[in-house]
Amino acid sequence: QAAFQSDLARLLELIGTGKESLSFMKKRIRHLAQQWLRAARRLEQKLKGRQRDQKHILIHIGFLTEESGDVFSPRVLKGGPLGEMVQWADILAALFLLGHSLRVTVSLKELQSHLGVPPGRGNCPLTNPLPFDLIYTDYHGLQQMKQHMGLSFKKYRCRVRVIDTFGTEPAYNHEEYATLRGYRTNWGYWNLQPTQFMTMFPHTPDNSFMGFVSEELNKTERQFIKSNKVSSMAVVYGKEASIWKVQGKEKFLAILNKYMEIHGTVYYETQRPPEVPAFVKNHGLLPQHEFQQLLRKAKLFIGFGFPYEGPAPLEAIANGCVFLQARFNPPHSSLNHEFFRGKPTSREVSSQHPYAEDFIGKPHVWTVDYNNSEEFEAAIKTIVRTQVDPYLPYEYTCEGMLERIHAYIQHQDFCTTSSPLPPKAKSPAMQSPPSPLALSPNATHLVWSPSASRDPHAWPPVDSLQVWVSETRHACTETCRRRGLVCEPTFFRFLNKKEVFLQLSITCDSTEYEMNHLYPAVAENVHECYLQKEPLLFSCAGYNTKYRRLCPCRDYRKGQVALCRDCL
Ligand code: UDP
Repeated sequence: QAAFQSDLARLLELIGTGKESLSFMKKRIRHLAQQWLRAARRLEQKLKGRQRDQKHILIHIGFLTEESGDVFSPRVLKGGPLGEMVQWADILAALFLLGHSLRVTVSLKELQSHLGVPPGRGNCPLTNPLPFDLIYTDYHGLQQMKQHMGLSFKKYRCRVRVIDTFGTEPAYNHEEYATLRGYRTNWGYWNLQPTQFMTMFPHTPDNSFMGFVSEELNKTERQFIKSNKVSSMAVVYGKEASIWKVQGKEKFLAILNKYMEIHGTVYYETQRPPEVPAFVKNHGLLPQHEFQQLLRKAKLFIGFGFPYEGPAPLEAIANGCVFLQARFNPPHSSLNHEFFRGKPTSREVSSQHPYAEDFIGKPHVWTVDYNNSEEFEAAIKTIVRTQVDPYLPYEYTCEGMLERIHAYIQHQDFCTTSSPLPPKAKSPAMQSPPSPLALSPNATHLVWSPSASRDPHAWPPVDSLQVWVSETRHACTETCRRRGLVCEPTFFRFLNKKEVFLQLSITCDSTEYEMNHLYPAVAENVHECYLQKEPLLFSCAGYNTKYRRLCPCRDYRKGQVALCRDCL
């Protein structure tokens, strides 16, 4: 039985020393300790003594190992990326507080010793059983584990969880399919269950949403912040001078400067970086808690288009700022933008921070065309006038993160396969048992009938399933979103049956099993129906104007999109 922890001191010891990145993470954990502990107490009360197994967990932060180059640690104090460290610090805190037994490694030597690989021996099967129920790592760590575990890697990879900032879509994960279809990635093809990849934002329901936390405010602090806001103060998003090299900057900065005093937190060594104009008040890179203090005073946090999808905009919104960002038209993706090239996703990024745009929106978030001076100026004028309350989505609070990780640990099991596999070959004559779906009158929509037989071990519970047929230009992600639902890839296995087409009144002149990440789907004009031959390719992402896809959608908790209403 796992017992909630009431003190973070032992975790700080576990993390070790010797790297600036580790110091940053420890500082963060110390600073947020009270907030974490309060949240753990609240979740403990909510779960009312429910049985929770204590897991033995290895946390191997691959990108911080010397063997992977560790380019991050030396840049912690120089404006380099901090988002990953923010997230790892929060994952460590959450796993620890939930009462699991942790080992933390940031070197290959420690990894080998924990895995039980004798020094000097690599790429051999482990001689003893793996002493961990779960391993949280990243792409670098995955590579290192594969290299040093030999054949045991295949045996144990179901225990791995990969922290993967931008996400990995199923088409890029399946080695044979990706190679055949040209889904190129720089990160390898791992044939993991796509939900073993855990992202920073709920980018794609094909992966699990891990997230991180932001500082929370109590009532007094909220009141204080509201009355002390400086309505003419703007802070620019970005700690590195290079973000100021954006096209058209002079024009929109001149407009902004008419209404607001512009502040920056750009790292510099001895003098102002030449990219930062003289009228900007640059504070230099601030320690994280001082950066929060600056956000508490500011009215506006403004993005210049980079970095993509980081934690800072959520922190700004949580501290009562409005976040103003550029709309990307056309959207940025691995097909048209250097930053995303080679990343295992074709997700289209419609602004600097699509989560802020789609999940939060106005009045907290304004997404505008920076090349359109009138639109830009009108936004600034309105923002200066409007009062906005601090806002933090529940899924980014400590309690929300603890709740989500608790649910994953209790319910996600990739080692015992209960999912029914589809028949091996195309089989028009094959009869499956009747599917427990009820037909709705418009026939593009099926609702799971709760009275029908259900798999009591399925998670999420199948009662939350609704089937929708996509339009040809929509992925399942979008199809579900438009109905206030979210695509749930674990449910694809229930739809991957011939009779589901029948129940949807879809005429199939032929039905074939093939490997295609868009299946199950129908090519409507030719009455050809397709089922998925490879369960690893079930994918919420992706569309092709040739097909209408069968989409498994489910409900979700308000502010906690990872969990369905009955998922806890
Ligand atoms: N941050 C900081 N000092 C600053 C500016 C930002 O410590 O002067 C922190 C901020 O609190 C956030 C983290 O940097 O948690 C990462 O923010 P960002 O969104 O810039 O993502 P990154 O590109 O660093 O991954």
